[in-house]
Amino acid sequence: MRIGCPKEIKPQEFRVGLTPNAAREAVNHGHSVVVETNAGTGAGFSDEDYVQAGASILGTAAEVFETAEMIVKVKEPQAAERKMLREGQLLFTYLHLAPDPEQTKDLIDSGATCIAYETVTDANGGLPLLAPMSEVAGRLAPQVGAWTLQKANGGRGVLMGGVPGVGPARVVVIGGGVVGTHAAKIAAGMGADVTVLDRSLPRLRYLDDVFGGQFKTSYANAGNTIELAREADLIIGAVLIPGAAAPKLISKAQLSELKPGAALVDVAIDQGGCFETSRATTHQDPIYDVDGIMHYCVANMPGAVARTSTIALGNATMPFMLALADKGWRQACEDDPHLLNGLNVHAGQLTYYAVGKALGIDV
Ligand code: NAD
Repeated sequence: MRIGCPKEIKPQEFRVGLTPNAAREAVNHGHSVVVETNAGTGAGFSDEDYVQAGASILGTAAEVFETAEMIVKVKEPQAAERKMLREGQLLFTYLHLAPDPEQTKDLIDSGATCIAYETVTDANGGLPLLAPMSEVAGRLAPQVGAWTLQKANGGRGVLMGGVPGVGPARVVVIGGGVVGTHAAKIAAGMGADVTVLDRSLPRLRYLDDVFGGQFKTSYANAGNTIELAREADLIIGAVLIPGAAAPKLISKAQLSELKPGAALVDVAIDQGGCFETSRATTHQDPIYDVDGIMHYCVANMPGAVARTSTIALGNATMPFMLALADKGWRQACEDDPHLLNGLNVHAGQLTYYAVGKALGIDV
């Protein structure tokens, strides 16, 4: 199969759909790979790296879309890219169609077969192509939280690990799923005093079994949450209720109960945020102050570490990409119901029930 990887064109997107190592694997499987010039630059991969891996470099996205039977990307195709998709072509990328009727219509009209990373599943009921980005955002959260706590950024001026004779920062992580667990591990590794809140007792049991000693756990009810928040220097919001907006767990009125200069890192901002005062920010202007409490609410945190994110995503997508290329999408999806769960659009039809329900389209 001819596999194509265009350069991402969404603003501030530095990741790339195929790493040189993924390209090499595809070539080793007998496929040909075309990559748009400078597609990997933002993630630290040169055209030469792809050529060394056996790929060919093309000058424009149009040539990539025209040549390739399968397009592998990161972000949902932008309007200009959607125009280049054609009937029978395979698109493998994040799509997030439910809130995006315009994109959904264009993909249906294109006649292409579109497999969305975010709805591919695994045997444990997880989302294997979303998990790497949650891992990245979780591990990044204490890092950006530590930075937000610095005096020059409006924070309390507290060092995460403290120093001999001075206690560490107190960190509260709300939500102990993928993001929360990785955030807690890193915050504890920085020497902070960490407590994870979750409303799932089985999850708290798991965290206590595996990480007991590294961080504490607490049941997430409103009383425990505000009690721990009052003592916290840094609060990381990492909750998820699948298919729903994030619940608001700290209200505007409660900000006055927090320590002045405390930092809130709302990783759940892509689901609307779990603090009432959260609003999405960008990497250019990531933090703002509400009542003396510093908020960091960047909606695409993994973009800050584009190289790590690209490699992590590539590790997760590669087996699926190879199955699609080796067998064709039909056989690959027949052999793997988890990959089939990724199928959102095929031959002029929406094929994913939840998206249809959200957009009022028959599936
Ligand atoms: P997850 O499903 O693995 O974990 C969510 C956890 O939240 C679960 O353990 C659940 O029991 C817990 N929870 C739900 N409601 C709660 C409540 N009221 N109080 C306490 N705990 C509660 O999800 P995840 O992969 O860790 O993702 C967490 C959030 O981070 C999601 O909103 C996700 O979209 C977001 N995210 C954001 C970025 C970003 O760049 N900002 C990147 C990746 C993920």
